[in-house]
Amino acid sequence: MSFSLPELPYAPTALEPHIDARTMEIHHGKHHAAYVNNLNAAVQGTEHEGKSLEELFAQMSKLPAPIRNNGGGHWNHTMFWNVMAPSGGGAPEGELAAAIDAAFGSFDEFKKQFADAAAKRFGSGWAWLNVGADGKLFISSTPNQDNPLMDLAEQKGQPVLGLDVWEHAYYLHYQNRRPDYVSAWWNVVNWDEVSRRFAAATK
Ligand code: MN
Repeated sequence: MSFSLPELPYAPTALEPHIDARTMEIHHGKHHAAYVNNLNAAVQGTEHEGKSLEELFAQMSKLPAPIRNNGGGHWNHTMFWNVMAPSGGGAPEGELAAAIDAAFGSFDEFKKQFADAAAKRFGSGWAWLNVGADGKLFISSTPNQDNPLMDLAEQKGQPVLGLDVWEHAYYLHYQNRRPDYVSAWWNVVNWDEVSRRFAAATK
């Protein structure tokens, strides 16, 4: 078994004007593709070949850096494409909305805290909304291509929403203005997909 690059679930132009087509083409076709290729190269012919990403994440602290960086890169981006949609934006509904209110007080307060985690991540990394072992939602951030599924994560949980804050995710259109990218990104968040992931993580 080897890992493969998933197709984007929409056209590269679909998230405009919030995320431009050229960024999407390079981000998916070059960056994500490189993570997949480098991950396959890192596991090929080793005892780790054939393992799932989740199996690798569970023992990540014992594995070589190329598996950590590229395995995280593959999983994180696969989620990222799917928690965005051209029909996105708005606010979550149902049980996810109730859980966000319970954890953060309100949807606006959640957005504020999540954007803050994204803004304060120094250098490259991700902001996450996760379900913890107690079934409650919490926000975290990770450096580089780490994620909360990895055994070495400071805060472990099941991510249900992730935001890429590497410069390659926004620099062409937003240059150094990461907060502007984060503000615009709310317009493409696919809350239906986040709700599905929340339901799966809490069932
Ligand atoms: Mn990226």
